[in-house]
Amino acid sequence: MSVSPIYNFSAGPAVLPEAVLRTAQQEMLDYNGTGFSVMEMSHRSDMFMGILHHAEQDLRSLLNIPANYQVLFLQGGATTQFNMAAMNLAHGFERADAVVTGNWSRLAYEQMPLLTDARIHLAAHGGEQFDYKDLPPVDNWDIDRNAAFVHFASNETVNGLQYADMPKLSDGMPPLVCDMSSEILSREINISDFGLIYAGAQKNIGPAGVTVVIIREDLLERCPKNIPAVFNYRTHIDKDGMYNTPATYPIYMSGLVFRWLQTQGGVKKIEALNELKAQTLYAAIDGSGGFYRNDIAPHARSKMNVVFQTASADLDKKFIQEAELRGLRLLKGYKSVGGMRASIYNAMPYAGVEALAEFMADFQRRYG
Ligand SMILES: *Cc1c(COP(=O)(O)O)cnc(C)c1O
Repeated sequence: MSVSPIYNFSAGPAVLPEAVLRTAQQEMLDYNGTGFSVMEMSHRSDMFMGILHHAEQDLRSLLNIPANYQVLFLQGGATTQFNMAAMNLAHGFERADAVVTGNWSRLAYEQMPLLTDARIHLAAHGGEQFDYKDLPPVDNWDIDRNAAFVHFASNETVNGLQYADMPKLSDGMPPLVCDMSSEILSREINISDFGLIYAGAQKNIGPAGVTVVIIREDLLERCPKNIPAVFNYRTHIDKDGMYNTPATYPIYMSGLVFRWLQTQGGVKKIEALNELKAQTLYAAIDGSGGFYRNDIAPHARSKMNVVFQTASADLDKKFIQEAELRGLRLLKGYKSVGGMRASIYNAMPYAGVEALAEFMADFQRRYG
């Protein structure tokens, strides 16, 4: 009897490539002939420094990160970056601008003012009533030349929105600060269009516990001296990421994911596959004659987090329960949004999306 595969659609912590988990399993008790696991290594040992160095180099090559950008693997999650970005980059400025397009960028907007003197100006938001069904085009953002930065989230994990064309500001405008937690490495981007990019690992990079920060070097001059060292980007740069103990095992796992991405042909290849996966799911929704709905403006639909619902919360519940039994796991939408959410990050194979689309058709035949 064949066992049908399990597909994990969790929004985060999310599915990891099976090949990566197998390598980690093989190396669990004996990393590279050392006789112990990566978890048991000093972070200052040559062995771990090698792991960190390779992870950084592989990330740099995958994303084409220019030499004038620094890369950090920090703790504290993307949530900590809401405040760190403001504390470090808005010091001495009157104002910083924030775009609110969903759950995460709203939280950033609310948290940012707490540890900076700069006023956080709401530069744009999604929908008259903040209903987050569409994205404000970058040309409509109300931004000030003299603002410290402009913060936005390129993919809203909870609400299922994503900027199809990555926002870019013209020369002379403030640096863009982007929360890319749920889409980094899913498509090609031009790092030089940003001042700072941050991403919690547990969506599209690796396990929870490490946050990637990519920062343009000149911005480090803004980091004030009078903030706690652990929240200062400059401290971490000056100490080569070893100011305090980094999340060693999640960094090792992230490094394995970077290498796996390279074997998949890099970001350009995975981007094409991600397009196909998203198209397949949206076609299943739009082709259902209204049985399934996604209310996001078509040009703003996320290719990473596909939200959808049926006509009733009861039917949604039934869908989620039956899907679970078929091995299609963790499809429940975020509590404030309801319905279903299929997160289809890099590590979700096409077969998983196909299996979900087939189940959707089957469920509709039985309940439609
Ligand atoms: C998950 C997520 C966060 C929060 O990340 P933590 O690591 O839990 O702090 C922030 N922003 C976005 C876009 C996310 O998807």
